[in-house]
Amino acid sequence: MNFLEYLIGHQAEMVDTLRTVVSYESPSREKILLDRLTAYLAELFCSIGADVKILEQPEAGNHLRASWGEGKEQALILCHIDTVWPMGEIDKRPFRIVDGKAYGPGVYDMKGGLVQAIFALKSIIAIQKKVPRKIVFLCTSDEEIGSQTSCSLIEAEAHNSAFVLVPEPAANGKQGAAKLSRNAWGMYDMKIIGRSAHAGGDHNKGINALEEMAHQILKLQAMTDYDIGTTVSVGEAQGGAGYNVIPGLATAKVDLRASTKKELAAAHVKIMGLTPFLKGAAVIVTGGINRPPLLATKANTLLYEKARRYAEELGFELPGVHVGGVSDGNLTSAIGVATLDGIGAVGDGAHAVHENVLLEALAPRAALLAKLLAE
Ligand SMILES: [Zn+2]
Repeated sequence: MNFLEYLIGHQAEMVDTLRTVVSYESPSREKILLDRLTAYLAELFCSIGADVKILEQPEAGNHLRASWGEGKEQALILCHIDTVWPMGEIDKRPFRIVDGKAYGPGVYDMKGGLVQAIFALKSIIAIQKKVPRKIVFLCTSDEEIGSQTSCSLIEAEAHNSAFVLVPEPAANGKQGAAKLSRNAWGMYDMKIIGRSAHAGGDHNKGINALEEMAHQILKLQAMTDYDIGTTVSVGEAQGGAGYNVIPGLATAKVDLRASTKKELAAAHVKIMGLTPFLKGAAVIVTGGINRPPLLATKANTLLYEKARRYAEELGFELPGVHVGGVSDGNLTSAIGVATLDGIGAVGDGAHAVHENVLLEALAPRAALLAKLLAE
């Protein structure tokens, strides 16, 4: 029996596991829920003979490290267990299967990929029993909110790894493309200080922080240049206290994406250096670059070429594309470790209500992961 035959034979079990993993909902900031899913996964990894360590976090959700096999070298599978969906979403959209697709919060990003990777390991254990290097899973709880508590862990684990596989959702719907490069990400908080005053009696004495912010928002949005791959989006803005008060304070959250280090640095300098339009107003920007771009480095490309050949042997094509969204693959690639990202579930609708996973692709995609880990 080969990996693919084993995995096709275990497709129903894979779907059942996916149902369970999706049903344990896991919003990035809900420690109790995250820890529950981590505990379930710890048991699952234990049951297949992996060494499991729960990496306790005081406030964030716990992370999980599971390893199987022997050897000085290790291969890293990097998964996040958190989703962007709030608590209770599972009651509105429970796990369900319609026309060969599985639906539910987080099914595509990235619980489908997580389950594929677990079954890839199961198929290796069932068939091959030995691997050229240790297989290490790192399942983190805070990728969707910037990986603050997992970043150093991810980098340390990647440092010890020959290569990193990131079963984040594949791109381009049914094509199931790998993500060969990703944008960089910056997050900024803008605070604007004006001067509050009575809107009727003292209009000339006020400095309207919202007026100042309107100028800044237009300037920020205008930094977007699709041709060079830089986008800026003001995602949240707050300020003011009613009709008759000239607002003295306004705040905004700004999202920056860039496809190269050079453009990232240039945009960062621009955002940090914003100056006020109105006399007497102040603009204070904090925050910064969250992660560098994931680039199609030589090491990454070699790993991708290998995966593409294996995919061909398994009977499917594995195109490669650039995407705007980031992942923890940005972190591992940036420290120079060969990283292959976007080789998880085939489907559609990450972070959207129609999020779904193509069931017929579960086994072949898991088989690809198994081949990459075992050969
Ligand atoms: Zn993801």
